[in-house]
Amino acid sequence: MVPVEPAASCGQGIWAFRIMASIKLTTRSLATRIRRRALAAHRVYRMWSRVAWGLMHKDHPLLVHIIPQRRCNLACTYCNEFDDFSPPVPVEEMLRRVDQLAALGTSVITISGGEPLLHPQLDEVIARMRHHGIISGMITNGYLLMPERIERLNRAGLEYLQISIDNVQPDDVSKKSLKVLDKKLEMLAEHADFAVNINSVVGSGVANPEDAIHIAERALALGFTTTLGIIHDGSGQLKPIGEADRNVYEATKKWGKRRFARFIEFQENIAYGRPHNWRCRAGARYLYICEDGLVHYCSQQRGYPGIPLAKYSVADIRREYGTKKDCAPFCTVNCVQQISIVDNWRDPQTRPDTRAGQPASAEPAAGHLVQS
Ligand code: SF4
Ligand code: SF4
Repeated sequence: MVPVEPAASCGQGIWAFRIMASIKLTTRSLATRIRRRALAAHRVYRMWSRVAWGLMHKDHPLLVHIIPQRRCNLACTYCNEFDDFSPPVPVEEMLRRVDQLAALGTSVITISGGEPLLHPQLDEVIARMRHHGIISGMITNGYLLMPERIERLNRAGLEYLQISIDNVQPDDVSKKSLKVLDKKLEMLAEHADFAVNINSVVGSGVANPEDAIHIAERALALGFTTTLGIIHDGSGQLKPIGEADRNVYEATKKWGKRRFARFIEFQENIAYGRPHNWRCRAGARYLYICEDGLVHYCSQQRGYPGIPLAKYSVADIRREYGTKKDCAPFCTVNCVQQISIVDNWRDPQTRPDTRAGQPASAEPAAGHLVQS
């Protein structure tokens, strides 16, 4: 029997389930396995401690995505979160931002991009998070991973890493394919002390949506967790998925019912284009910090509130905690939904959304599709 837990961190997919599997590689020494299990137990303890603290105290962010570099070494056609020219944010500025997030009481920081591994001093940023006791994660396309780079991430103190894989064979939509990345996954299985999650995606327009199932199976075989995401449009809203993608969803759902105890309601609503009733706590419990150091609701709602992190205060957190987001019913930004579960049972949002023209239907907005 394989125990399952809801995903605790995220990519940009809309719904996700996580499969916990035991480590199966036989090449590891007993000492390595014991060390990794001790580290895993410590991670789980820290995560639940942070969740408990988050339940008790509401005036701090639970999860922050931070961007050290907008540039990416790939160019997935559905993505609106990268460019091919931006320089890295100077490390002194990145460390200052981590310090500011620590002062706000942030529980978890996930480094995202662009491609974060292009940043030449990323390890210092990760080490600074751990110095403050913050849980440290990263989302990468995996292309730059090598054994020595993985060992450096171990030493820096990285605790969670996620790679999104879109297809089995690379195509015009995405080069994040299992064929290209499988060697990187084997390196991670051999060298990583941190937890690894593989996110596979439906709805991105890749040639074979059922590839998502093969990717998930490979992730499990290597001892990783896996999540499944549905693509969203350029404003974070639901993009209706086609029959082939829906079939993949149904296949994983049946798989899920057999194996997963906590397959939650919003996954079903999103897969079938139904509105979901929840309270988005973006700007309060979740922050997106862009390369310019501004606080945004999420990767798909950049510009709101658009306040510099250096000036972001508990008053801002309290205001956004109580602000109703009109884009919530058809939102597909999985990480914010998962974080908001902590507070969904309390504190109805009474402050109206002051943004103009937020989507209130399942009709896709103009813009590129997004998936990290
Ligand atoms: S989805 Fe990820 S890997 Fe692809 S272009 Fe965007 S940031 Fe780069
Ligand atoms: S509901 Fe929240 S997370 Fe979703 S798109 Fe709107 S602001 Fe972003």
